[in-house]
Amino acid sequence: MLLDKPIVQNKSTTYRSVTSKDSGLFETCARHTSRYTARSLQSIYLCDACTRALVVGAFNDRAPVFHGETFKGFCGLCNRKRNVTQRQWFVCGVCWNVVLAYQKSMAASAAVREWWANEVQPNFPNLTLEETEQVVLAAYSRKGKTKFVEAATLSMLDFVVSDSSTNPPTPLFHIEQKTGPGAIDEMTIFQLDVNDYNDIVGAVQHTNIPSYIVHVQAVQEYNFPTRQTIVKGLWWTDIATLQSHQKKIAQRRGEDKFAISYDAKAFSPIASFGSEIAKSGYKKLMARAKKLTLIE
Ligand SMILES: [Zn+2]
Ligand SMILES: [Zn+2]
Repeated sequence: MLLDKPIVQNKSTTYRSVTSKDSGLFETCARHTSRYTARSLQSIYLCDACTRALVVGAFNDRAPVFHGETFKGFCGLCNRKRNVTQRQWFVCGVCWNVVLAYQKSMAASAAVREWWANEVQPNFPNLTLEETEQVVLAAYSRKGKTKFVEAATLSMLDFVVSDSSTNPPTPLFHIEQKTGPGAIDEMTIFQLDVNDYNDIVGAVQHTNIPSYIVHVQAVQEYNFPTRQTIVKGLWWTDIATLQSHQKKIAQRRGEDKFAISYDAKAFSPIASFGSEIAKSGYKKLMARAKKLTLIE
């Protein structure tokens, strides 16, 4: 389910549905579509609209098992300061990490849209930024296709920029957003999962338009008992430049995923992105990006 932005809070739609014990769903993960034992009772502060969105999008229509107190704080999903209520669900540890990451992704994509509107759009009025892959709330279920097969046919990354002076508009390049707690200036290594790399290369080959990557530095600040995501900075690179800074591929510690390490010098401060567009850097980039191949 796509989460419409901005979420409109309608005071008349107070959300207090509960999953009761009779449902037989106590101590099972709300996000796991098939029955999965999870005794951990997780707690998060959410506005009513976001609770509803999580229930429908991520929790298989399972309402919270408990609604607690309501007060002014930062919503754990939309990141806005508003009336939030404590909500509890049974959710397993793996799924809970996914849920906790939503606030960060939403804040990061809002920061990319804001940067575009304030810094880029005024100088390039013909270019439009479209968010193609909004933050998707999803339940946990096994996928049929392998990640590798998906990458080869992927046509959408997070954003696409088009020239709207033509009819129909001409897509010029993708922007893939990556979010992390670090500032590029203070990093020596930038890591990307092999799957993410393949998604980008796959989409570039499939759509025949190149891709830039924007790193969004987003940190969590605790306004107890709620927490807020704060975006501190943005940096950019392109997929070919990033690949030319590859240092090694290694298994992530304690996980079965492989990650690629790059020299963080591949990235530039976001302020220089305007000159990349001004000189149509994306045209030259496509020739370089064409030569990239998926990593198996
Ligand atoms: Zn919210
Ligand atoms: Zn789960």
